[in-house]
Amino acid sequence: MQIGTLCNSMQIGILCNSMQIGTLCNSIQIAIDCILIYSRYEKNRIYTYIGEVVVSVNPYKTVDIYNQTYVDHYKGREIYERPPHIFALADSAYKTMKRKSRDTCIVISGESGSGKTEASKIIMRYISAVTNVSGRKEVERVKDVLIKSNVILEAFGNAKTNRNDNSSRFGKYMDINFDFKGDPIGGHINNYLLEKLLSGSPDQKLEEMKLSRNPDEYHFIRQGGSPKCSTINDQSDYKAVMGAMKTLNFAFKHAETLWKIVAAVLHMGNMEYDTVDEVHDTVGVRDAHSLKNLAGLLSVGPEDLKKALTSRVIAAGGNIVNKEFTKSEAFYARDAFAKAIYDRMFSWIVTRINEVIDPKESGTGYIGKGTVIGVLDIYGFEIFENNSFEQLCINYCNEKLQQLFIELGIAWVHVEYFNNKIICDLIEQPHKGILAILDEACLNVGKVTDEMFLTAMTQKLKSDRFTCRALSPADKTLEHNRDFRIRHYAGDVSYSVVGFIDKNKDTLFQDLKRLLYNRYIHTTKRPLTAGTNFKNSIVALVDHLATKEPHYVRCVKPNDIKSPSNFDEVRVKHQVMYLGLLENVRVRRAGFVYRAKYSRFLDRYKLICKSTWPNFHGNQVDGVKLIIKSQGFEKDVAYGKSKIFIRSPQTLFSLEEARDKY
Ligand code: ATP
Ligand code: MG
Repeated sequence: MQIGTLCNSMQIGILCNSMQIGTLCNSIQIAIDCILIYSRYEKNRIYTYIGEVVVSVNPYKTVDIYNQTYVDHYKGREIYERPPHIFALADSAYKTMKRKSRDTCIVISGESGSGKTEASKIIMRYISAVTNVSGRKEVERVKDVLIKSNVILEAFGNAKTNRNDNSSRFGKYMDINFDFKGDPIGGHINNYLLEKLLSGSPDQKLEEMKLSRNPDEYHFIRQGGSPKCSTINDQSDYKAVMGAMKTLNFAFKHAETLWKIVAAVLHMGNMEYDTVDEVHDTVGVRDAHSLKNLAGLLSVGPEDLKKALTSRVIAAGGNIVNKEFTKSEAFYARDAFAKAIYDRMFSWIVTRINEVIDPKESGTGYIGKGTVIGVLDIYGFEIFENNSFEQLCINYCNEKLQQLFIELGIAWVHVEYFNNKIICDLIEQPHKGILAILDEACLNVGKVTDEMFLTAMTQKLKSDRFTCRALSPADKTLEHNRDFRIRHYAGDVSYSVVGFIDKNKDTLFQDLKRLLYNRYIHTTKRPLTAGTNFKNSIVALVDHLATKEPHYVRCVKPNDIKSPSNFDEVRVKHQVMYLGLLENVRVRRAGFVYRAKYSRFLDRYKLICKSTWPNFHGNQVDGVKLIIKSQGFEKDVAYGKSKIFIRSPQTLFSLEEARDKY
């Protein structure tokens, strides 16, 4: 509140240059937020409220704040009654869901290693701890299955990276369905953009698969440069995964097949090629023995496999001809094949888990979907030294979530805020946006280079949010001719176009597909590109979230060295800035205590106003305005896009009192 007053008075006091003052206010606000976060973190208090958002700082050590005593402390309490805690947020989401029968969702974001996945697990465990008080056996089973599904997904979808020993390489959204009693009856998982790196594949059960125990022997694992990890116990994890598969009723043969696929992928990474024809630059598989191993694991003939790995069938002048690969094509095909197999395996696992956790199949006998709490654990904004197609996708996803944050919360007229819709449009607009231009480049037959795609963007994009060298030669921040830059809401990011076309096409040569599926695929339809697929799934996700009452957890990484006692102020400041906390801060500054959708407000209070009772047929906003006018509260409210905002608690109490009289 004091902070709000400080900033407000500064804005009012010095109106001559509102832009500068705005920026100044923002940086003061960020600094104050950092001090607040730090002063709590220092005392082992890793949670802080900023507005309605729970900020969580990764402690990088075990903190004993999740035991039963804590659960009891937070259970059923109102959010501000107890010190900041993620349990308070989980309880608030749960209460809304149960009391109001409203679908809710919890959006967890933050950069890699900031604690998102841990937060989602803590929320799941809290929900598990406060539900099923009557101890129904079938509900206990559902809870067990929901929690164990995570173990399997992590085993196949996580990897050790430089930034996190247990990094999720996929975005995950999980709906948990509840019955009218508020007990879990099942769920559903959606996964987004599995990063097709294989560095994290498990290294157990090897001999049978003709694998070595030494991970260094595998090209794909070696890529990471650090296969061993002190914080991860492979043996116990392996047991946990096998146990989880049992709980989820994965048939033994399915589990075996999964390990076989992992083994095949690892073998494939070791496939080497020798040049057989210098003139035509064609290749053969170097090691017949490993080819045989691989063919065995994939249950295909070695000759067919060899053919698919070294050549492909193409249509030329009406004839079908066999075209041998060059060495680089062969390596490309090998990697594309391995990635596609891994990708499909992961999708298969998700589908299988969804079958098991489907509320209809859960055995609780509940018909219908009940009410839902959705938990989104998704990568935050990424700004690296080198940013590519993946970062563009991830950052686009964050722009969309930020937009949802704005639209659900603070879109009213009185407070200025930055609406990032222009950036979403820049990326996603049909025919005109970056993804559309990229798709167009990928459609062209013949050799379209990444540079040509960059030129096309330069010609077609008309936005001050987009720059490249050709448009702005003096700009020193763009180091290369192949770079372009987007001014995201969270800051500027330079992307290198190198690889965009290949990554977007995501082609798997038809011959490899044929081999895998053992059939000819007669398809004239072009498969959707990776970018368009991603866009579609994010748009669907955002639409889904928009129907729910949102709760936000922003995870902050205190340092880059995984230390429990290091608070890197510069890094934290940066995160506070790009976690979009400022937009949320502006709500605080304006000081509204209550907000509600027009429809809800009208439903609740229409009885206190003659003009709206019993039925109001006009526009909802007009109805709400009539109610407010009838009580004389015009000065204490603001009207947003979809919501009404009320400043003082007194107004709310008076409205409730008026309601009680009827
Ligand atoms: P990525 O985007 O790479 O998946 P993430 O945000 O999901 O990263 P986590 O895997 O949740 O990050 O956290 C990284 C590590 O930080 C954990 O393995 C754990 O060691 C530690 N950590 C995170 N949150 C907590 C917590 N609340 N208590 C103790 N340790 C934590
Ligand atoms: Mg994670």
